[in-house]
Amino acid sequence: MSSNQNRETRKAKCIACKKSAVVNIMNPFCEKCFLKHYEKRVGNLIKRFKLVSKGDKVLVAVSGGKDSLSCANVLSKLREKYDFELGILHIDVGIPECTNERTLNVVEGFCKEREIIFHFYDLSEFLGAGTSEVARFLRRPLCSLCGMLKRYVFNKFARENGYNKIATGHCADDIARFFFKNWISRDFLWISKLKPITVSAHPKVVTRIRPLYEMLETENLAYVQLQRIPIAGCSRCSYFLRKDKWYDVLRVIDEHKKDFKYNFVKALEVAEIHTRYERDFKECIRCGEPTDGEVCAVCRIKERYDRLKLSV
Ligand code: AMP
Ligand code: ZN
Repeated sequence: MSSNQNRETRKAKCIACKKSAVVNIMNPFCEKCFLKHYEKRVGNLIKRFKLVSKGDKVLVAVSGGKDSLSCANVLSKLREKYDFELGILHIDVGIPECTNERTLNVVEGFCKEREIIFHFYDLSEFLGAGTSEVARFLRRPLCSLCGMLKRYVFNKFARENGYNKIATGHCADDIARFFFKNWISRDFLWISKLKPITVSAHPKVVTRIRPLYEMLETENLAYVQLQRIPIAGCSRCSYFLRKDKWYDVLRVIDEHKKDFKYNFVKALEVAEIHTRYERDFKECIRCGEPTDGEVCAVCRIKERYDRLKLSV
């Protein structure tokens, strides 16, 4: 927040109770009203889209950053109300700038404090090397490789451990960014799935929920700060930030219209995007995981890496 914005926030009054505001993102709020308003908005989305139901087993994928920890915190508060079970999965992706001892400690500590089941997955063990090394070796862009591997692990781990839903910390900023990127590359199938819930389309695919769909990154940051939740580094990995121009584009729009992203995702929630293509899931002939082709992308990566490694 700039010093001008800071000054403005100090002068502003909370729109709910008229006390001095401490946060002024879309509207000015005092601490208590901001937290209440934040949790109410996430709670309303969960209710409107029936993201959780009685008896669900929800696995939250937590990187240790502000978004996924905000998501896990709100879900932990709603456990009793909706009567569902909660577990957290933290993956060490083998990129020391993204996941390390500190991120692990932060996520584990968060779980302990709230009595949430904690799961840890070491991707290097699965791959035989860290994602950085595999990406370098295969000359693959690190971010897309990391994202692909994480999605594979989320689904496989959740299903094998009896979870019927996976929650991620994707927020309005991510959704808007994905939208523009995929719109330009005409990946309408991806866009049609960008909703608060993507219901399983195959017995081996676990339903995805995005409870922070309407929340802004800045709101998530304020939420963890005001809740005094320790976070590890930045939730958005440095590689991603450097490469993604959509981040800059949206930041500029934001400067002119601070409710743009919020109104954008609200519109996307109700938009009906039809596409001629549908994913026709098969099962990978190597690992049995759902895929479009014969051999899934992860098995292909592993095989190429093992082959190249052997040849040096
Ligand atoms: P990203 O791919 O970094 O944009 O992260 C998208 C979402 O994936 C986050 O909001 C988290 O829910 C989840 N996530 C990212 N990194 C990890 C990780 N290392 N372990 C577990 N979940 C993660
Ligand atoms: Zn496979």
